[in-house]
Amino acid sequence: MVSPATDDQLEATLTRYWGYREFRPLQREAIAANLEDRDSVVVLPTGGGKSLCFQMPALVRPDAGPGLVVSPLVSLMKDQVDGLVASGIPAAALNSSLTADERRQTHDALDAGSCRLLYVTPERLVGEGGDGFRAKLLRWDVQFVAVDEAHCISQWGHEFRPEYRQLARLREEFPEIGVHAFTATATRQVRKDIASQLALRDPDVLVGSFDRPNLVYRVLVRTGVKDQIQRVIDRHTGEAGIIYCVSRKEVEQLAAWLEQSGHRALPYHAGLPDEIRRRHQEAFLEERTDVMVATVAFGMGIDRSNIRYVIHAGSPRSLEHYQQESGRAGRDGLEAECVLLYSGADYARWRQMLEQSGELSDQARRLLRDMERYAGGTKCRHAVLVEYFEQRYQQDGCNACDWCLKELEPIDESLTLAQKILSTVVRSGQSFGMGHVIDVLRGRTTDQVTSRRHQELSTFGLLADTPIAELRGYLDQLTQQDLLLRTDGPYPVLQLTDDGVTVLKGQGSVELYRQPRPAPGQRRRRDRTDPAAWEGVDRGLFESLRECRMEIARARGVPPYVVFHDNTLRDLARRRPTSPEELLQVYGIGARKADDLGPIILTVIQEYEGHANAEAEDQPQ
Ligand code: ADP
Repeated sequence: MVSPATDDQLEATLTRYWGYREFRPLQREAIAANLEDRDSVVVLPTGGGKSLCFQMPALVRPDAGPGLVVSPLVSLMKDQVDGLVASGIPAAALNSSLTADERRQTHDALDAGSCRLLYVTPERLVGEGGDGFRAKLLRWDVQFVAVDEAHCISQWGHEFRPEYRQLARLREEFPEIGVHAFTATATRQVRKDIASQLALRDPDVLVGSFDRPNLVYRVLVRTGVKDQIQRVIDRHTGEAGIIYCVSRKEVEQLAAWLEQSGHRALPYHAGLPDEIRRRHQEAFLEERTDVMVATVAFGMGIDRSNIRYVIHAGSPRSLEHYQQESGRAGRDGLEAECVLLYSGADYARWRQMLEQSGELSDQARRLLRDMERYAGGTKCRHAVLVEYFEQRYQQDGCNACDWCLKELEPIDESLTLAQKILSTVVRSGQSFGMGHVIDVLRGRTTDQVTSRRHQELSTFGLLADTPIAELRGYLDQLTQQDLLLRTDGPYPVLQLTDDGVTVLKGQGSVELYRQPRPAPGQRRRRDRTDPAAWEGVDRGLFESLRECRMEIARARGVPPYVVFHDNTLRDLARRRPTSPEELLQVYGIGARKADDLGPIILTVIQEYEGHANAEAEDQPQ
């Protein structure tokens, strides 16, 4: 049993190595569990600061052995190790990307007890040759095991990786040390599954709030995908974003279109050769490209912290996926936007695709329905997401979603409109899908309409002037409000529920909303996000510092955020430090970074100020 470090020690370490003033929620508790060798499951949202929960114990533990971090992605490891080394923390990774020389150096460091954190993939640990490797770990006196992205162990999670299952061996083979699981997404079921699959012993379960207050959620019925994407991008000129598409073909098309329209955009999907994927990912992380157009293949462990928007050009298949993917925006805590463009047809398409791949279980259907409900829902998006993960949303309105920002327009005659639609469904025999019902309402004489003589229905053409997308939106809302039911199967048809029948009779209540047509460039300003975003920041100096960061990153072969996060640049451009002591007051600058990069940063600030003063003097009085 190690003696727990005191709070003071931990705080001093936080400032000295990371340049942060205080712990984020549950970090202290997670560190304590680690130092007490008590197993734990730590669930914090993306950007919640999970890494620190295992990095700091490795640093403050009295024994020299390393902490072991199991992480699924080699690229993710590299960034974390680079970041740690830049902050003066001896860390290394062992994986297939290393040269024999590099591997030997790391082994030497471990033999000498001078490596505090060791990152490995699950394959290295429990795959071929894993036995020998685990014997070495014993010799190196490994202090604890941290399993990152632990939801990969659960088949209920959204990124199941079978090799994670074998990690349970660690608990048996290293009985003395703690095993700690970390994840951002976990329903109760996934959480329980993680603990049992890893064979954790009475773990401390620490679950943070799933809410991400700095993310602004918007949902729009897909009317014209390019226009809609363009509008979002226009609100974020020169900023980073990800656009998720369902298919590879869509990725290719959108990326090509964006490039032609003058954006720095690249595609990413599993069908591209490894080499191209790696290049594109690096270009994005190194800030040489702004927009990544991708399938779900892109993103696990993407640590670019200044992603300002995530657009879904089609609906994902579950809210877990949505939360994980949209959660890649705004990791730096500053405002970012998550826009879901969807159509009711997305869900039929998913059902079909899942059926073809043999994955259409009851569970998969449920997950799809929950996703559909979110999309068509008419209440606070933050509340829906938080409640989905079985937490209570304490606030009264988030001021950060289309619903709370009153961007959805209530329809005055909702009941009459609902009756027109429901009545069309009934009159056409409750045996047609959305497309046909819409054709009848809009008065289109398609072959199907005429062959059934539906042009003779009294509701034919009743909503001739309403755009198709808008009608789809209403049908989705009626489905969400459980007035209509869409049957499963390859040809889903619409039917009325009991509540639907009540509304059709003119009883009961219904509220329908029209989606906004936002003015281009419309952007909400809030002052709620902490280090007050741009308040007091000298933009010119920020840009000079950004250039300097880019040069340092290039010279060192690391992504810019490993050098400094945007938050740190903003704080520098706000405080404009002139001495090493003042530098240490800046968010995200610890002693090592101040030593290493302080002189160059102070020079940039000095030069900028000198330049600004000279310009001021040149001005006529
Ligand atoms: P997660 O893995 O939970 O998504 P990270 O560990 O990558 O999150 O942390 C997100 C960001 O927050 C990182 O830039 C990290 O350095 C920063 N961070 C972590 N802990 C703190 C803290 N106590 N104060 C300020 N920033 C922090």
